[in-house]
Amino acid sequence: MCPEPIHRPRKRFGQNFLHDRFYIERILTEFEVDPKQDIIEIGPGKGALTIPLLKKYGHLHVIEIDRELAQHLEDKCADLGELHLHLGDALKLDVSTLVTEGKLQICGNLPYNISTPLIFHLLKTIPDGSLMLFMLQNEVVDRICASHNHSDYGRLSVMVQAQCRVEKLFEVPSEAFSPQPKVTSAVVKIQTDKTRRKKLADPKVFEQVVRQAFGQRRKTLRNALKKLLLAHDLSEVSVDSSSRAENISVEQFIAIANMLSKP
Ligand code: SAM
Repeated sequence: MCPEPIHRPRKRFGQNFLHDRFYIERILTEFEVDPKQDIIEIGPGKGALTIPLLKKYGHLHVIEIDRELAQHLEDKCADLGELHLHLGDALKLDVSTLVTEGKLQICGNLPYNISTPLIFHLLKTIPDGSLMLFMLQNEVVDRICASHNHSDYGRLSVMVQAQCRVEKLFEVPSEAFSPQPKVTSAVVKIQTDKTRRKKLADPKVFEQVVRQAFGQRRKTLRNALKKLLLAHDLSEVSVDSSSRAENISVEQFIAIANMLSKP
């Protein structure tokens, strides 16, 4: 077997490589997917997940920004199966163009610096019934899964939960990586849900409402949404206008946006 090529981890690409077999196995067990559908890994790095995934499923799309790592990975995976390498920025790629049909199954130990924008980006194009299994900074996972009236609840929680079912699976200590990150990580399962998505009359209006509400989260909702509400009153959807964004449930945000979406 060829020796592992020397690679200096690049901080700007959030390169903390997972090496602990226990956590690699746990992620793979949770990412049990349909082999007939497309499978994507974001940020394969040195292949901690890529190699077992390719051995198991025989095909895999990977999106990697680091040219050097991508080259090493292609060499390592040459005989393992069909590796479709997309060299570039996952933030600029429309993943739905990689699907031949149906849902997407995506996993990734994501670079922490882009994880939130990447999730927002994926939500815009990912088809119904898709699965995303991501390792993220623990705090980000807590924000994704938080309910209203909780301090972690914010724009990310509402935007994700309005379209998806979410579940925090387990935490991963920094010792499981090399180099070690300064923070604890966690694995989250995010599944797009057609029924939830259908409730949104106009996703653009919804996004605007949530952005405005949390942009000024200390203000009452009446004040934070003043420019959007115009002639409408929050009592039309049984929302107390003196409450703050963090007290409004996802369902209530949907009701407010749908009221404002009516012609
Ligand atoms: N999956 C590997 C593992 O678990 O060891 C590597 C994870 S490392 C935290 C993040 C990976 O994402 C790195 O390989 C990095 O080069 C890649 N990456 C960083 N920014 C990216 C971007 N914008 N688009 C695609 N890949 C990116």
